Amino acid sequence: MASTDQLIICEHCDCVYEKVTLAKHQKTLCSRCGGVLQRYNGLTIEQRLALSLTALVLWVFTNFYPVMSISLKGLKNSATLWDSVLALSQGPITFIAMVAAIAMIIAPIIQLVLLIWVLGFALSHQRCPGFKFCMRWLETLRPWSMLEVCLLGAMVAVIKLAGLLDVLPGIGLFALAVLSLMMIRIAGRDVRDLWDTL
Ligand SMILES: [Zn+2]
Repeated sequence: MASTDQLIICEHCDCVYEKVTLAKHQKTLCSRCGGVLQRYNGLTIEQRLALSLTALVLWVFTNFYPVMSISLKGLKNSATLWDSVLALSQGPITFIAMVAAIAMIIAPIIQLVLLIWVLGFALSHQRCPGFKFCMRWLETLRPWSMLEVCLLGAMVAVIKLAGLLDVLPGIGLFALAVLSLMMIRIAGRDVRDLWDTL
């Protein structure tokens, strides 16, 4: 049987290609559907691990510090991500609260824990226990982690409410903004490289 190590499958249309080594700023596109197959990743394992640990700290800030504070005529109120999920769960759309909790809180933290676990062992060029399980879950969770959507929603809320009340963006919102960008960089499609590296 031919070796499949050097093959890559387009995740959008299942077309099979041979892998190529990319130079800086290069990416390969599927000739059939135009989807991105490979993107140059200049980060070393140490850098990825450092970014993952930083993202973990940011996740704590995002979840335990207020995303925004509002005040009107001396009355003040502030809300964290957890508060927003709790508020949703008490309304008529409990299902949405569950989806929001998964997309904003649970999926990102599982991704980060798995990444730190895999990369911690990768530092000494070892596959961590349960490597295949971790890598499959990293791939499965990718579409569920929607921090950037949450960030966009929070920013729209801040801008819309600013016309009615005194709105102050909180530490949580700034942490969320940086965390969203970092998650795209560290938990994106490039995670697949670890299959080859280890
Ligand atoms: Zn394709």
